[in-house]
Amino acid sequence: NISAPTTSSPSPDKLLGGLLSAAFDESSCQSRYRSNLYRKPSPFPLSPYLAQKLRKYEAYHKKCGPGTKRYRRAVKQLKSGRNADHSECKYVVWFPCNGLGNRMLTIASTYLYALLTDRVLLTHVAPEQEGLFCEPFPGSSWVLPGDFPENNPHKLHIGAPESYANMLKSGAVRNDGDPSGVPASSLPPYVYLHIEQFQLKLSDNVFCDEDQAVLAKFNWMVLKSDSYFAPALFLTPMFEAELARMFPRKEAVFHHLGRYLFHPTNRVWGIISRYYEAYLARVGEKIGFQIRIFPEKPIKFENMYDQLMRCIREQRLLPELAGAGAEPPANHTAAGGKVKAVLIASLYSGYYEKIRGMYYESPTRNGEVVAVFQPSHEEQQQYTSNEHNQKALAEIYLLSYCDKIAMSAWSTFGYVAYSFAGVKPWILLRPDWDKEVSAVACVRSASVEPCLHSPPQLGCRARRDVDAAAVKPYVRHCEDVQFGLKLF
Ligand code: GDP
Repeated sequence: NISAPTTSSPSPDKLLGGLLSAAFDESSCQSRYRSNLYRKPSPFPLSPYLAQKLRKYEAYHKKCGPGTKRYRRAVKQLKSGRNADHSECKYVVWFPCNGLGNRMLTIASTYLYALLTDRVLLTHVAPEQEGLFCEPFPGSSWVLPGDFPENNPHKLHIGAPESYANMLKSGAVRNDGDPSGVPASSLPPYVYLHIEQFQLKLSDNVFCDEDQAVLAKFNWMVLKSDSYFAPALFLTPMFEAELARMFPRKEAVFHHLGRYLFHPTNRVWGIISRYYEAYLARVGEKIGFQIRIFPEKPIKFENMYDQLMRCIREQRLLPELAGAGAEPPANHTAAGGKVKAVLIASLYSGYYEKIRGMYYESPTRNGEVVAVFQPSHEEQQQYTSNEHNQKALAEIYLLSYCDKIAMSAWSTFGYVAYSFAGVKPWILLRPDWDKEVSAVACVRSASVEPCLHSPPQLGCRARRDVDAAAVKPYVRHCEDVQFGLKLF
Protein backbone atom coordinates (compact mmCIF):
# COMPACT_ATOMS: atom_id res chain seq x y z
CA ASN A 1 0.00 0.00 0.00
CA ILE A 2 2.22 2.74 -1.32
CA SER A 3 0.75 6.21 -1.40
CA ALA A 4 1.62 8.66 -4.17
CA PRO A 5 4.68 10.82 -3.48
CA THR A 6 3.88 14.29 -2.29
CA THR A 7 6.97 16.07 -3.64
CA SER A 8 8.46 16.25 -7.14
CA SER A 9 6.83 14.62 -10.11
CA PRO A 10 6.44 10.88 -9.69
CA SER A 11 8.95 8.83 -11.63
CA PRO A 12 7.42 6.84 -14.48
CA ASP A 13 8.70 3.75 -12.77
CA LYS A 14 8.77 4.07 -9.02
CA LEU A 15 9.94 0.55 -8.45
CA LEU A 16 12.91 0.95 -10.81
CA GLY A 17 11.88 -1.75 -13.23
CA GLY A 18 11.15 -4.24 -10.44
CA LEU A 19 14.30 -3.63 -8.42
CA LEU A 20 12.33 -2.37 -5.42
CA SER A 21 9.61 -4.27 -3.61
CA ALA A 22 6.10 -2.83 -3.66
CA ALA A 23 5.42 -4.25 -0.21
CA PHE A 24 6.62 -1.28 1.86
CA ASP A 25 4.76 1.63 3.35
CA GLU A 26 6.32 4.61 1.61
CA SER A 27 6.14 7.02 4.54
CA SER A 28 8.28 4.78 6.75
CA CYS A 29 11.24 5.23 4.39
CA GLN A 30 10.71 8.10 2.02
CA SER A 31 14.11 7.83 0.35
CA ARG A 32 13.30 4.41 -1.11
CA TYR A 33 11.01 5.90 -3.75
CA ARG A 34 12.16 9.51 -3.80
CA SER A 35 15.92 9.39 -3.98
CA ASN A 36 15.87 8.21 -7.57
CA LEU A 37 13.81 11.22 -8.60
CA TYR A 38 16.98 13.26 -8.06
CA ARG A 39 18.89 11.15 -10.57
CA LYS A 40 18.73 10.43 -14.26
CA PRO A 41 17.20 7.00 -15.01
CA SER A 42 19.63 4.13 -14.64
CA PRO A 43 21.58 3.37 -17.82
CA PHE A 44 21.63 -0.31 -16.83
CA PRO A 45 18.43 -2.30 -17.43
CA LEU A 46 17.59 -4.74 -14.66
CA SER A 47 17.36 -8.39 -15.63
CA PRO A 48 13.91 -9.82 -14.87
CA TYR A 49 15.76 -12.80 -13.42
CA LEU A 50 17.44 -10.63 -10.79
CA ALA A 51 14.10 -9.02 -9.90
CA GLN A 52 12.60 -12.48 -9.45
CA LYS A 53 15.54 -13.59 -7.34
CA LEU A 54 15.14 -10.56 -5.05
CA ARG A 55 11.43 -11.31 -4.48
CA LYS A 56 12.27 -14.94 -3.73
CA TYR A 57 14.95 -13.85 -1.28
CA GLU A 58 12.53 -11.46 0.46
CA ALA A 59 10.07 -14.32 1.04
CA TYR A 60 12.90 -16.49 2.39
CA HIS A 61 14.11 -13.74 4.71
CA LYS A 62 10.59 -13.20 6.03
CA LYS A 63 10.24 -16.92 6.67
CA CYS A 64 13.58 -17.30 8.48
CA GLY A 65 14.39 -13.82 9.81
CA PRO A 66 14.54 -12.67 13.44
CA GLY A 67 11.34 -13.19 15.41
CA THR A 68 10.35 -16.36 13.54
CA LYS A 69 10.27 -19.81 15.06
CA ARG A 70 12.74 -20.96 12.44
CA TYR A 71 15.21 -18.31 13.60
CA ARG A 72 14.75 -19.39 17.23
CA ARG A 73 15.35 -22.98 16.24
CA ALA A 74 18.51 -22.05 14.35
CA VAL A 75 19.87 -20.07 17.32
CA LYS A 76 19.17 -23.05 19.54
CA GLN A 77 21.26 -25.19 17.21
CA LEU A 78 24.08 -22.62 17.32
CA LYS A 79 24.01 -22.69 21.12
CA SER A 80 24.08 -26.49 21.12
CA GLY A 81 27.71 -26.33 19.97
CA ARG A 82 27.19 -28.40 16.80
CA ASN A 83 26.07 -27.80 13.25
CA ALA A 84 22.88 -29.67 12.22
CA ASP A 85 21.66 -31.74 9.27
CA HIS A 86 18.69 -30.71 7.10
CA SER A 87 18.25 -27.14 8.16
CA GLU A 88 15.46 -25.16 6.54
CA CYS A 89 17.19 -21.81 6.97
CA LYS A 90 20.83 -20.87 6.65
CA TYR A 91 22.38 -17.57 7.69
CA VAL A 92 25.29 -15.28 7.02
CA VAL A 93 25.96 -12.70 9.71
CA TRP A 94 27.85 -9.59 8.59
CA PHE A 95 30.16 -7.73 10.98
CA PRO A 96 31.43 -4.20 10.29
CA CYS A 97 34.95 -3.10 9.47
CA ASN A 98 36.31 0.40 8.65
CA GLY A 99 34.27 3.40 7.45
CA LEU A 100 30.87 3.73 5.89
CA GLY A 101 31.96 3.28 2.27
CA ASN A 102 33.76 0.05 3.12
CA ARG A 103 30.76 -1.17 5.06
CA MET A 104 28.32 -0.53 2.24
CA LEU A 105 30.57 -2.35 -0.23
CA THR A 106 30.97 -5.35 2.04
CA ILE A 107 27.27 -5.53 2.93
CA ALA A 108 26.43 -5.59 -0.78
CA SER A 109 29.07 -8.27 -1.41
CA THR A 110 27.75 -10.33 1.49
CA TYR A 111 24.20 -9.97 0.22
CA LEU A 112 25.28 -11.17 -3.22
CA TYR A 113 26.96 -14.12 -1.53
CA ALA A 114 23.74 -14.77 0.43
CA LEU A 115 21.71 -14.76 -2.79
CA LEU A 116 24.09 -17.24 -4.39
CA THR A 117 24.24 -19.60 -1.43
CA ASP A 118 20.67 -19.37 -0.08
CA ARG A 119 21.51 -17.68 3.16
CA VAL A 120 19.61 -15.07 5.12
CA LEU A 121 21.67 -11.90 5.58
CA LEU A 122 21.79 -10.43 9.08
CA THR A 123 23.88 -7.40 9.97
CA HIS A 124 25.53 -6.47 13.25
CA VAL A 125 24.54 -2.83 13.62
CA ALA A 126 27.04 -0.98 15.81
CA PRO A 127 25.86 2.20 17.59
CA GLU A 128 27.57 4.44 15.01
CA GLN A 129 25.54 2.77 12.27
CA GLU A 130 22.18 2.82 14.05
CA GLY A 131 19.41 4.72 12.33
CA LEU A 132 21.29 5.20 9.07
CA PHE A 133 19.53 2.72 6.81
CA CYS A 134 15.93 1.58 6.46
CA GLU A 135 15.12 -2.10 6.57
CA PRO A 136 15.68 -3.45 3.06
CA PHE A 137 13.50 -6.58 3.26
CA PRO A 138 9.74 -6.18 3.69
CA GLY A 139 7.99 -7.63 6.71
CA SER A 140 11.22 -8.55 8.50
CA SER A 141 14.51 -7.19 9.80
CA TRP A 142 18.12 -7.56 8.76
CA VAL A 143 19.39 -6.37 12.15
CA LEU A 144 21.09 -9.10 14.14
CA PRO A 145 19.18 -9.41 17.42
CA GLY A 146 21.15 -8.29 20.47
CA ASP A 147 20.88 -11.70 22.12
CA PHE A 148 22.68 -13.46 19.26
CA PRO A 149 25.12 -15.82 20.98
CA GLU A 150 28.21 -15.08 18.84
CA ASN A 151 27.92 -11.32 19.07
CA ASN A 152 31.48 -10.45 19.97
CA PRO A 153 33.28 -8.55 17.19
CA HIS A 154 36.62 -8.86 19.02
CA LYS A 155 36.65 -12.59 18.36
CA LEU A 156 36.71 -11.98 14.62
CA HIS A 157 40.28 -11.77 13.36
CA ILE A 158 42.62 -13.65 11.09
CA GLY A 159 43.81 -15.89 13.95
CA ALA A 160 40.32 -16.90 15.18
CA PRO A 161 40.14 -20.70 15.54
CA GLU A 162 36.62 -20.59 14.05
CA SER A 163 37.93 -19.10 10.82
CA TYR A 164 37.61 -21.41 7.87
CA ALA A 165 41.32 -21.18 7.03
CA ASN A 166 42.25 -22.08 10.62
CA MET A 167 39.71 -24.90 10.72
CA LEU A 168 41.40 -26.33 7.63
CA LYS A 169 44.76 -26.05 9.36
CA SER A 170 43.53 -27.65 12.58
CA GLY A 171 41.74 -30.42 10.72
CA ALA A 172 38.29 -29.43 12.02
CA VAL A 173 37.18 -29.41 8.37
CA ARG A 174 38.68 -30.78 5.17
CA ASN A 175 38.35 -29.56 1.60
CA ASP A 176 40.18 -32.37 -0.15
CA GLY A 177 37.56 -35.09 -0.05
CA ASP A 178 33.94 -35.55 -1.05
CA PRO A 179 32.02 -33.15 1.21
CA SER A 180 28.80 -35.09 0.66
CA GLY A 181 30.33 -37.91 2.68
CA VAL A 182 30.70 -35.71 5.78
CA PRO A 183 27.54 -35.39 7.89
CA ALA A 184 26.76 -31.71 8.51
CA SER A 185 26.06 -32.47 12.16
CA SER A 186 29.68 -33.49 12.69
CA LEU A 187 30.84 -29.92 12.01
CA PRO A 188 31.36 -27.05 14.47
CA PRO A 189 28.31 -24.83 15.14
CA TYR A 190 29.38 -22.04 12.79
CA VAL A 191 32.14 -21.01 10.47
CA TYR A 192 33.85 -17.64 10.39
CA LEU A 193 34.90 -16.19 7.05
CA HIS A 194 37.63 -13.62 7.32
CA ILE A 195 37.81 -11.81 4.00
CA GLU A 196 40.29 -9.04 4.55
CA GLN A 197 43.11 -7.60 2.57
CA PHE A 198 46.34 -9.27 3.64
CA GLN A 199 49.61 -8.69 1.79
CA LEU A 200 47.69 -7.36 -1.21
CA LYS A 201 45.59 -10.53 -1.45
CA LEU A 202 42.18 -11.47 -0.07
CA SER A 203 42.91 -13.58 2.95
CA ASP A 204 41.51 -17.05 3.50
CA ASN A 205 41.17 -17.70 -0.22
CA VAL A 206 37.71 -19.25 -0.14
CA PHE A 207 36.57 -18.44 -3.67
CA CYS A 208 37.05 -22.00 -4.91
CA ASP A 209 34.44 -24.66 -5.64
CA GLU A 210 35.89 -27.19 -3.21
CA ASP A 211 35.84 -24.68 -0.36
CA GLN A 212 32.35 -23.44 -1.18
CA ALA A 213 31.08 -27.04 -1.11
CA VAL A 214 32.35 -27.37 2.46
CA LEU A 215 31.13 -23.94 3.55
CA ALA A 216 27.66 -24.72 2.20
CA LYS A 217 27.29 -27.37 4.90
CA PHE A 218 27.35 -24.82 7.73
CA ASN A 219 23.99 -23.40 8.75
CA TRP A 220 25.66 -20.41 10.35
CA MET A 221 28.37 -18.32 8.79
CA VAL A 222 29.85 -15.24 10.39
CA LEU A 223 31.64 -12.92 7.99
CA LYS A 224 33.86 -9.89 8.33
CA SER A 225 35.46 -8.13 5.43
CA ASP A 226 37.07 -4.83 4.52
CA SER A 227 36.86 -5.49 0.79
CA TYR A 228 34.36 -5.30 -2.06
CA PHE A 229 34.60 -9.03 -2.67
CA ALA A 230 31.76 -9.29 -5.22
CA PRO A 231 34.27 -9.61 -8.12
CA ALA A 232 35.80 -12.63 -6.32
CA LEU A 233 32.39 -14.35 -6.44
CA PHE A 234 32.46 -13.95 -10.22
CA LEU A 235 35.79 -15.76 -10.22
CA THR A 236 34.35 -18.77 -8.35
CA PRO A 237 33.46 -21.31 -11.07
CA MET A 238 30.32 -22.65 -9.36
CA PHE A 239 28.71 -19.18 -9.25
CA GLU A 240 29.54 -18.14 -12.79
CA ALA A 241 26.36 -19.31 -14.56
CA GLU A 242 23.97 -17.94 -11.94
CA LEU A 243 25.75 -14.57 -11.89
CA ALA A 244 25.55 -14.35 -15.67
CA ARG A 245 21.76 -14.70 -15.44
CA MET A 246 21.50 -12.17 -12.65
CA PHE A 247 23.82 -9.62 -14.22
CA PRO A 248 23.89 -9.63 -18.01
CA ARG A 249 25.81 -6.33 -17.60
CA LYS A 250 28.48 -7.12 -15.04
CA GLU A 251 29.43 -3.53 -14.42
CA ALA A 252 26.06 -2.90 -12.79
CA VAL A 253 26.43 -5.23 -9.80
CA PHE A 254 26.85 -2.68 -7.04
CA HIS A 255 24.76 -0.16 -8.97
CA HIS A 256 21.72 -2.44 -8.70
CA LEU A 257 22.39 -4.15 -5.35
CA GLY A 258 23.35 -0.86 -3.70
CA ARG A 259 20.22 0.88 -4.94
CA TYR A 260 18.21 -2.08 -3.73
CA LEU A 261 19.73 -2.40 -0.26
CA PHE A 262 20.59 1.07 0.96
CA HIS A 263 17.91 3.61 1.72
CA PRO A 264 18.69 6.39 4.17
CA THR A 265 16.21 6.62 7.04
CA ASN A 266 13.80 9.55 7.11
CA ARG A 267 16.13 11.42 9.42
CA VAL A 268 19.10 11.18 7.05
CA TRP A 269 16.81 11.68 4.08
CA GLY A 270 15.80 14.98 5.70
CA ILE A 271 19.43 16.14 5.54
CA ILE A 272 19.81 14.99 1.95
CA SER A 273 16.55 16.36 0.59
CA ARG A 274 16.83 19.72 2.39
CA TYR A 275 20.27 20.23 0.94
CA TYR A 276 19.30 19.06 -2.51
CA GLU A 277 16.19 21.22 -2.70
CA ALA A 278 18.04 24.26 -1.34
CA TYR A 279 21.13 24.13 -3.55
CA LEU A 280 20.94 21.57 -6.32
CA ALA A 281 17.37 21.10 -7.53
CA ARG A 282 17.31 24.01 -9.94
CA VAL A 283 20.81 24.00 -11.41
CA GLY A 284 21.74 23.01 -14.96
CA GLU A 285 24.59 20.57 -14.42
CA LYS A 286 25.99 19.12 -11.21
CA ILE A 287 29.66 18.24 -10.91
CA GLY A 288 30.88 16.41 -7.83
CA PHE A 289 34.43 16.49 -6.49
CA GLN A 290 35.33 14.11 -3.70
CA ILE A 291 38.68 14.75 -2.11
CA ARG A 292 39.89 12.13 0.32
CA ILE A 293 43.29 12.31 1.97
CA PHE A 294 44.37 9.02 3.52
CA PRO A 295 46.51 9.07 6.65
CA GLU A 296 48.79 6.38 5.20
CA LYS A 297 49.53 8.49 2.12
CA PRO A 298 49.20 12.15 3.09
CA ILE A 299 49.24 14.62 0.22
CA LYS A 300 49.97 18.30 0.75
CA PHE A 301 46.99 20.57 0.20
CA GLU A 302 48.72 22.55 -2.60
CA ASN A 303 49.63 19.36 -4.46
CA MET A 304 46.14 17.91 -4.22
CA TYR A 305 44.58 21.20 -5.22
CA ASP A 306 46.90 21.54 -8.24
CA GLN A 307 46.09 17.99 -9.28
CA LEU A 308 42.38 18.67 -9.09
CA MET A 309 42.84 21.84 -11.17
CA ARG A 310 44.87 19.94 -13.76
CA CYS A 311 42.11 17.32 -13.96
CA ILE A 312 39.41 20.01 -14.30
CA ARG A 313 41.37 21.74 -17.10
CA GLU A 314 42.38 18.61 -19.00
CA GLN A 315 38.93 17.05 -18.87
CA ARG A 316 37.10 20.38 -19.29
CA LEU A 317 34.98 19.73 -16.22
CA LEU A 318 34.36 23.41 -15.46
CA PRO A 319 34.19 26.56 -17.58
CA GLU A 320 37.45 28.45 -18.00
CA LEU A 321 37.99 31.72 -16.22
CA ALA A 322 38.32 34.95 -18.16
CA GLY A 323 40.93 36.18 -15.65
CA ALA A 324 40.67 38.26 -12.51
CA GLY A 325 39.20 41.70 -13.07
CA ALA A 326 37.86 40.86 -16.56
CA GLU A 327 34.53 42.37 -17.51
CA PRO A 328 31.64 39.93 -17.60
CA PRO A 329 31.10 38.84 -21.21
CA ALA A 330 28.24 40.53 -23.09
CA ASN A 331 26.53 37.17 -23.53
CA HIS A 332 26.30 36.77 -19.78
CA THR A 333 22.85 35.21 -19.87
CA ALA A 334 23.45 33.18 -23.03
CA ALA A 335 23.72 29.98 -21.04
CA GLY A 336 20.02 30.39 -20.33
CA GLY A 337 20.63 31.66 -16.84
CA LYS A 338 21.53 28.11 -15.86
CA VAL A 339 23.98 27.67 -13.09
CA LYS A 340 26.62 24.95 -13.06
CA ALA A 341 26.87 23.55 -9.55
CA VAL A 342 30.02 22.14 -8.04
CA LEU A 343 29.44 19.91 -5.03
CA ILE A 344 32.49 19.20 -2.91
CA ALA A 345 32.76 16.34 -0.45
CA SER A 346 35.82 16.52 1.72
CA LEU A 347 36.72 16.49 5.38
CA TYR A 348 38.44 19.86 4.81
CA SER A 349 37.13 23.20 3.62
CA GLY A 350 40.23 24.41 1.72
CA TYR A 351 39.28 23.05 -1.71
CA TYR A 352 35.84 24.59 -1.47
CA GLU A 353 37.19 27.97 -0.35
CA LYS A 354 39.64 28.18 -3.22
CA ILE A 355 37.31 27.02 -6.00
CA ARG A 356 34.48 29.22 -4.78
CA GLY A 357 36.89 32.16 -4.56
CA MET A 358 38.01 31.59 -8.14
CA TYR A 359 34.52 31.83 -9.57
CA TYR A 360 33.66 34.72 -7.24
CA GLU A 361 36.56 36.87 -8.31
CA SER A 362 36.53 36.20 -12.06
CA PRO A 363 33.87 35.74 -14.67
CA THR A 364 33.99 32.69 -16.93
CA ARG A 365 34.99 33.01 -20.57
CA ASN A 366 31.68 31.73 -21.88
CA GLY A 367 29.54 33.58 -19.38
CA GLU A 368 28.40 30.48 -17.51
CA VAL A 369 27.82 30.92 -13.81
CA VAL A 370 29.42 28.43 -11.41
CA ALA A 371 28.10 27.93 -7.88
CA VAL A 372 30.22 25.98 -5.41
CA PHE A 373 28.84 24.09 -2.42
CA GLN A 374 30.16 21.90 0.36
CA PRO A 375 27.66 20.40 2.81
CA SER A 376 30.11 19.81 5.69
CA HIS A 377 33.78 19.75 6.60
CA GLU A 378 34.20 17.46 9.55
CA GLU A 379 38.04 17.81 9.65
CA GLN A 380 38.51 14.43 11.32
CA GLN A 381 37.35 11.00 10.32
CA GLN A 382 35.27 9.52 13.17
CA TYR A 383 34.36 5.91 12.65
CA THR A 384 32.38 5.67 15.86
CA SER A 385 30.21 8.78 15.74
CA ASN A 386 26.65 8.32 14.64
CA GLU A 387 26.13 11.97 13.70
CA HIS A 388 29.32 12.00 11.66
CA ASN A 389 28.14 8.92 9.78
CA GLN A 390 24.77 10.53 9.03
CA LYS A 391 26.59 13.38 7.32
CA ALA A 392 28.90 10.99 5.50
CA LEU A 393 25.91 9.04 4.20
CA ALA A 394 24.13 12.24 3.18
CA GLU A 395 27.21 13.33 1.24
CA ILE A 396 27.58 9.99 -0.50
CA TYR A 397 23.99 10.42 -1.67
CA LEU A 398 24.42 14.07 -2.70
CA LEU A 399 27.50 13.13 -4.73
CA SER A 400 25.50 10.36 -6.35
CA TYR A 401 23.08 12.93 -7.82
CA CYS A 402 25.88 14.56 -9.80
CA ASP A 403 26.11 14.30 -13.59
CA LYS A 404 29.90 14.15 -13.51
CA ILE A 405 32.13 13.00 -10.67
CA ALA A 406 35.85 13.34 -10.02
CA MET A 407 37.07 11.43 -6.96
CA SER A 408 40.16 10.50 -5.02
CA ALA A 409 41.85 7.23 -5.85
CA TRP A 410 41.31 4.32 -3.41
CA SER A 411 38.25 5.80 -1.72
CA THR A 412 35.34 3.44 -1.10
CA PHE A 413 33.27 6.51 -0.15
CA GLY A 414 33.69 7.73 -3.75
CA TYR A 415 33.15 4.25 -5.23
CA VAL A 416 29.71 3.99 -3.61
CA ALA A 417 28.69 7.46 -4.86
CA TYR A 418 29.58 6.96 -8.52
CA SER A 419 28.19 3.45 -8.56
CA PHE A 420 24.82 4.64 -7.25
CA ALA A 421 24.89 7.39 -9.87
CA GLY A 422 25.78 4.95 -12.64
CA VAL A 423 28.37 7.50 -13.76
CA LYS A 424 31.95 6.63 -14.75
CA PRO A 425 34.12 8.92 -12.64
CA TRP A 426 37.42 10.60 -13.26
CA ILE A 427 39.83 9.21 -10.72
CA LEU A 428 42.47 11.52 -9.23
CA LEU A 429 45.42 9.16 -9.13
CA ARG A 430 47.58 8.72 -6.05
CA PRO A 431 51.24 9.73 -6.39
CA ASP A 432 53.69 6.80 -6.43
CA TRP A 433 54.97 5.87 -2.98
CA ASP A 434 58.23 7.74 -3.44
CA LYS A 435 56.60 10.81 -5.05
CA GLU A 436 54.61 13.76 -3.75
CA VAL A 437 52.81 14.54 -7.00
CA SER A 438 51.02 12.30 -9.47
CA ALA A 439 52.32 12.74 -13.03
CA VAL A 440 48.84 11.99 -14.42
CA ALA A 441 46.12 14.13 -12.84
CA CYS A 442 43.12 11.88 -13.46
CA VAL A 443 41.85 9.05 -15.65
CA ARG A 444 38.33 8.01 -16.57
CA SER A 445 37.14 4.78 -14.98
CA ALA A 446 36.29 1.98 -17.40
CA SER A 447 33.15 1.07 -15.49
CA VAL A 448 30.80 2.13 -12.72
CA GLU A 449 31.82 -0.80 -10.52
CA PRO A 450 33.84 -0.32 -7.33
CA CYS A 451 37.37 -1.71 -7.20
CA LEU A 452 38.31 -4.80 -5.20
CA HIS A 453 41.66 -3.63 -3.87
CA SER A 454 43.13 -7.05 -3.18
CA PRO A 455 42.35 -9.93 -5.54
CA PRO A 456 41.81 -13.50 -4.36
CA GLN A 457 44.32 -16.12 -5.32
CA LEU A 458 43.01 -17.98 -8.33
CA GLY A 459 43.86 -21.60 -8.89
CA CYS A 460 42.85 -22.38 -5.31
CA ARG A 461 44.44 -25.55 -4.04
CA ALA A 462 46.98 -25.48 -6.84
CA ARG A 463 48.09 -22.17 -5.26
CA ARG A 464 49.03 -20.91 -8.67
CA ASP A 465 48.95 -17.17 -8.86
CA VAL A 466 46.92 -16.40 -11.96
CA ASP A 467 46.12 -12.86 -13.02
CA ALA A 468 42.31 -12.83 -13.24
CA ALA A 469 42.38 -9.79 -15.52
CA ALA A 470 44.40 -11.77 -18.05
CA VAL A 471 42.08 -14.79 -18.13
CA LYS A 472 38.57 -13.42 -17.51
CA PRO A 473 37.10 -11.07 -20.09
CA TYR A 474 34.88 -9.30 -17.55
CA VAL A 475 37.47 -8.14 -15.03
CA ARG A 476 40.18 -5.53 -15.39
CA HIS A 477 42.79 -4.02 -13.16
CA CYS A 478 41.56 -0.85 -11.52
CA GLU A 479 42.72 2.54 -12.72
CA ASP A 480 43.68 3.58 -9.20
CA VAL A 481 44.89 0.30 -7.69
CA GLN A 482 47.10 -1.54 -10.14
CA PHE A 483 46.75 -4.97 -8.60
CA GLY A 484 43.02 -4.49 -7.83
CA LEU A 485 40.18 -5.94 -9.88
CA LYS A 486 37.06 -4.35 -11.25
CA LEU A 487 34.12 -5.85 -13.12
CA PHE A 488 33.22 -4.14 -16.37
P1 GDP B 1 37.40 5.47 2.44
O1 GDP B 1 38.23 5.40 3.68
O2 GDP B 1 37.63 6.73 1.64
O3 GDP B 1 37.54 4.24 1.61
O4 GDP B 1 35.86 5.60 2.86
P2 GDP B 1 35.07 5.12 4.15
O5 GDP B 1 33.69 5.68 3.98
O6 GDP B 1 35.17 3.66 4.34
O7 GDP B 1 35.78 5.81 5.40
C1 GDP B 1 36.02 7.18 5.44
C2 GDP B 1 35.15 7.86 6.49
O8 GDP B 1 35.68 9.17 6.74
C3 GDP B 1 33.73 8.09 6.02
O9 GDP B 1 32.88 7.03 6.29
C4 GDP B 1 33.35 9.33 6.77
O10 GDP B 1 33.04 9.00 8.09
C5 GDP B 1 34.65 10.12 6.75
N1 GDP B 1 34.74 10.94 5.52
C6 GDP B 1 35.68 10.84 4.55
N2 GDP B 1 35.46 11.76 3.59
C7 GDP B 1 34.35 12.44 3.95
C8 GDP B 1 33.60 13.52 3.37
O11 GDP B 1 33.90 14.03 2.30
N3 GDP B 1 32.49 13.94 4.04
C9 GDP B 1 32.12 13.38 5.22
N4 GDP B 1 31.03 13.85 5.84
N5 GDP B 1 32.80 12.38 5.81
C10 GDP B 1 33.89 11.91 5.19
